[in-house]
Amino acid sequence: MGSCRLGVGSRYDRIFLPGCHEGVATRGPEGTAVRLANAAGRAVLVLESRIVDIETASGGRFGPDPMDVLAEWDEFRAWEATGASKAATARLVESDLRCPVPRPRQVFAIGLNYRDHAAESGMAVPEVPATFTKFPASLSGPFDDIPLVGETNDWEVELVAAIGRRADRVAEREGWSHVAGLAVGQDISDRHLQFAAGSQFSLGKSRRGYGPVGPWLVTPDELGDPDDLAIGCAVDGETVQDARTSDLVFGVPRLVAELSAVMTLFPGDLIFTGTPSGVGFARQPPRFLRAGQLLASWVDGIGTIRNRCAGEDA
Ligand code: ZN
Repeated sequence: MGSCRLGVGSRYDRIFLPGCHEGVATRGPEGTAVRLANAAGRAVLVLESRIVDIETASGGRFGPDPMDVLAEWDEFRAWEATGASKAATARLVESDLRCPVPRPRQVFAIGLNYRDHAAESGMAVPEVPATFTKFPASLSGPFDDIPLVGETNDWEVELVAAIGRRADRVAEREGWSHVAGLAVGQDISDRHLQFAAGSQFSLGKSRRGYGPVGPWLVTPDELGDPDDLAIGCAVDGETVQDARTSDLVFGVPRLVAELSAVMTLFPGDLIFTGTPSGVGFARQPPRFLRAGQLLASWVDGIGTIRNRCAGEDA
């Protein structure tokens, strides 16, 4: 677990203490864990409150584009493990952080992947992952505003996995070895648009800025048990979702197996793994996001993203 969890007592503290993002331990005892961020368009390693520019530190071998780092993930990890990257050069500036995987070739998203959420939605748990896409143009940064359109916009905190190694017909037991890192994501959903043509999940979840991801990718080896992470989100400080990823119907390795059985997964592809219960539309009465509200979303051991809801003309 990251020191976010160890250093403070309550979830409220975890969301709002400014030091929570900056003071996190960046390496496990084996010294191999990595946090990859996108600082103003450049791939950086995050070391506590400082960053290492990867292109500079590697003499041009890797980066500056985060997608290029992911495309050579195994080579990058081998270089990073030599310690060549340890000289942090600049301070981490939260407002510089962008989507750590800015241009994935494919973005998979899974519906009804927590039993409690399927139940609150009045749907059965599917026998195979219920898969749609968030079109890549909907992705945004971990602290970007969400430009709301319409009146029925909902929150869905999700664990997001980024592929680090080409995956074809991968066995579940090999699933984690194909994942570069994990991030926090929000699958912001325009419920009206989602159900306007019967069911069009992909369009209703792909408005501009409806896919904030970050604050960085954390390698699974940094996390004590990557299959059992606390996940949640809060609207203006009120916790509305609070769960553990061990409740996923199809966990990350199983999703890699199921999806790669159908098609090839490429380095940099993202999987939004689904949201737990507590979404707004399933409440009585329903609740939706409003301009001005602050949506904070976290996964323990990874971090917290914070997105202000803005109006259409933001
Ligand atoms: Zn979702």
